[in-house]
Amino acid sequence: MYDVVALGEYLIDFLPAGRSEAGQPLFERNPGGAPVNVLAALARMGKKTAFIGKVGQDPFGEYLREVLVEQRIDVGGLVFAAHAHTTMAFVQLDDRGERSFHFCRQPGADQELRWEEIDKGLLEKTGFFHFGSISMTAEPSYSATLQAVRHAKAHGAVISYDPNLRPALWNGEAHARGAIEEGLRHADLVKISQEELLFLTGTDDLEAGAKQLAERFPALKLLLVTLGAEGTFYCRADARTGLVPAFEVRTVDTTGAGDGFFGAFLYQAAERGKALDTWDKQELEEAIVFANAAGALATTRKGAIPAMPAKEEITRLMNG
Ligand code: ADP
Repeated sequence: MYDVVALGEYLIDFLPAGRSEAGQPLFERNPGGAPVNVLAALARMGKKTAFIGKVGQDPFGEYLREVLVEQRIDVGGLVFAAHAHTTMAFVQLDDRGERSFHFCRQPGADQELRWEEIDKGLLEKTGFFHFGSISMTAEPSYSATLQAVRHAKAHGAVISYDPNLRPALWNGEAHARGAIEEGLRHADLVKISQEELLFLTGTDDLEAGAKQLAERFPALKLLLVTLGAEGTFYCRADARTGLVPAFEVRTVDTTGAGDGFFGAFLYQAAERGKALDTWDKQELEEAIVFANAAGALATTRKGAIPAMPAKEEITRLMNG
């Protein structure tokens, strides 16, 4: 059995890395993709994980496979495309350090994943199945993702979902909205930002927006709205809500905070092994405190995968 199996995009991010002596812009190669970041956080805490995705049969794809192996994430579900290259993204940082992504997909392997290529055994042998909406921005990976979600759910997996709106917008706002609503229909557990709440509900009022989503998506057992340095707001299926404040840390780079947070929350959910809607308030808030600590620690180091904290660091921060 696996604790968590995740499916989604997996690509190369080229991050700006200054200029050469001749003044040419330099880029640094990094593995990109939220689902793998979440698995890396879980694997660092000792959970058994596997990744399902598609990369090119090229040196970049081989590099991405090696990253999974290094992170102790099972690579049995990684497919190599013969006729598509590994997806790439050039990242730009604005004055405030916000990132924008310019994708290079013609076609990118991660969008080429087909249902027939997915190892069904992974979907049938996992406690949690995690996905996002970037693999739902184009076919055939859109349909493959949805079929995988349905298959995992039919075999008893708890479905965990991160819409990850910003990069999902590359194929247009209408498409992103349709895909995210489809994702929300299937999910038990969802993590969104306040910006995503506004996009989906037309309000950034936490109570009103979260309750609207709980009503529109009755399968949803728990909604987590992450608020950066403000902490995390939660809304349960029965519309009970609460706010769990963040930890104060010395933030260096917020990349990967949400993925570290979600990985740590899934760790708690996997440890407890009971249905999300049977947790009492204290159990839920303790799990969110743990996840908030992981998110905070992820901001104290650069990058995503290298910034994922160990369990001992999390408990040290929690114990002050
Ligand atoms: P995302 O990366 O998805 O935008 P957030 O930035 O909201 O997500 O971060 C996820 C969680 O990480 C937050 O709920 C919070 O607990 C923690 N976190 C993020 N930024 C900070 C920060 N600057 N200080 C302390 N904790 C933070």
